[in-house]
Amino acid sequence: MGERNMTSGISQITKQVYSRLEQKGYRGKIVPIQHLADLKEEFEHHRKQGVFDEALYQEYLAGFEFGIPEHFPDAKSLVITSAPQPQQKVNFNFKGRPYHLTVPPTYSHKTDEIVENILSDILKPKGFNLFPAVLPVKLLAVHSGLSKYGKNNITYIEGMGSFYRLKAFLSDLPAAEDNWFGLQMMEQCNKCSACANKCPPGAIIPHRFLIQAEKCLTFHNERPDEFPDWIELCWHNCLIGCMYCQLACPVNKRFFRWFEEGQESFTEKETELILKGTSPNQFPQATVEKLKRVCLFDQLDVMPRNLDVLIEQGSS
Ligand code: SF4
Ligand code: SF4
Repeated sequence: MGERNMTSGISQITKQVYSRLEQKGYRGKIVPIQHLADLKEEFEHHRKQGVFDEALYQEYLAGFEFGIPEHFPDAKSLVITSAPQPQQKVNFNFKGRPYHLTVPPTYSHKTDEIVENILSDILKPKGFNLFPAVLPVKLLAVHSGLSKYGKNNITYIEGMGSFYRLKAFLSDLPAAEDNWFGLQMMEQCNKCSACANKCPPGAIIPHRFLIQAEKCLTFHNERPDEFPDWIELCWHNCLIGCMYCQLACPVNKRFFRWFEEGQESFTEKETELILKGTSPNQFPQATVEKLKRVCLFDQLDVMPRNLDVLIEQGSS
């Protein structure tokens, strides 16, 4: 194929990828693989400047894979996608009382497979490959132009608010264009501090993209250590993560009450097993399936503690 034909072929495939994602209500961007190095450099820079708490770095950031994997030396692009996602309500029963607890958007990975299938169905027949990538997806989404940061360090997409899940891939499809934007904050943030005012631990710093993540409830309730003493019982508001800043944000207004249909309920017996920290292979199969349906099976290391504080707090 001549170079011009090749370029136009790649453009067509890229358009097809974007349009198939949009048909499903999703979005995507494809950027050249060279930007892997930019992502890495940015992280190193933040680390050197002491922006990351060391525990936070080790917990989340050290696990990113910024190199081209040995099994995929021909990778030529990074694909970043977004799929709309509601909050989930998950019900627990304990000592005769129901607890209806929230799981924020992004924790369900059900859309990952759908996205991967959409992309593979287009790319594979044309001889291109695709592999999931372990990357800082919010940063990639903002640089690619897919999202913009909010002051709360959560990213937003027009028409989706912050209610979506990002997923990154590596592909050997060359990028049709090289769009790589600087970090952008939503225009709406210029005259708004609603999230900062609502954040219980004061983790949001005005005029900075990065919050003080080591103060953020999400950082603490996603890791299995004991909660620090300074976290007040009344601050906990989700089974995992935290919704205060997203629910304070005017950009999310139309999504405030968006919950996944069909709530999963855990019986008194199942709730007790979770609270006791039962090992994953000791749960009855039906409970395992329930946990998997709400994408909480992989969160069993933090569930007993998180559920316990919400029960103690009397959450409903
Ligand atoms: S997730 Fe919660 S704790 Fe973290 S910045 Fe937002 S409001 Fe603050
Ligand atoms: S609440 Fe206001 S400042 Fe915070 S992310 Fe939303 S628009 Fe920006």
